[in-house]
Amino acid sequence: MKTKIIVSACLLGENCKYSGGNNYNADVAALADKFELIPVCPEVFGGLDTPRPPSEIVGDRVIAKTGADVTFQYHDGAEKTLYIARENNCPVALLKERSPSCGCGKIYDGTFSGNIIDGNGITAQLLLDNDIAVFGESKIDKLIDLYYFID
Ligand code: SF4
Repeated sequence: MKTKIIVSACLLGENCKYSGGNNYNADVAALADKFELIPVCPEVFGGLDTPRPPSEIVGDRVIAKTGADVTFQYHDGAEKTLYIARENNCPVALLKERSPSCGCGKIYDGTFSGNIIDGNGITAQLLLDNDIAVFGESKIDKLIDLYYFID
């Protein structure tokens, strides 16, 4: 049986990105040969529209470029993603890097100027807090090394 992993839906070509497009990555899609992929988009789960204004984390809030406070929607989407991960016994997630939801390790600095700082997106942090490992798309090889077992 294949190990189930949570994957950012935009990396699989779903047009759920804030711009209305996606972040399709052929290497991520190819993981379906080795794992059962469970696509998620926490921002859509949280009730946000697509397309939508970009948002960034500012302190303990998530703020859209319009100035709207979307903190609730980000946490709601993170909780729903955690629920899906638990229901499916996913030990690991592969999430889009630098996103205010999905980013792990590096995120934008909250000024909408493209600056990157250390930090995790809201969903990535909640998964990590619940002992689910998180990798970005540039770390696919590491995820395979650690979680792909041939029976
Ligand atoms: Fe992709 Fe995550 Fe943003 Fe959804 S919330 S568009 S899955 S990076």
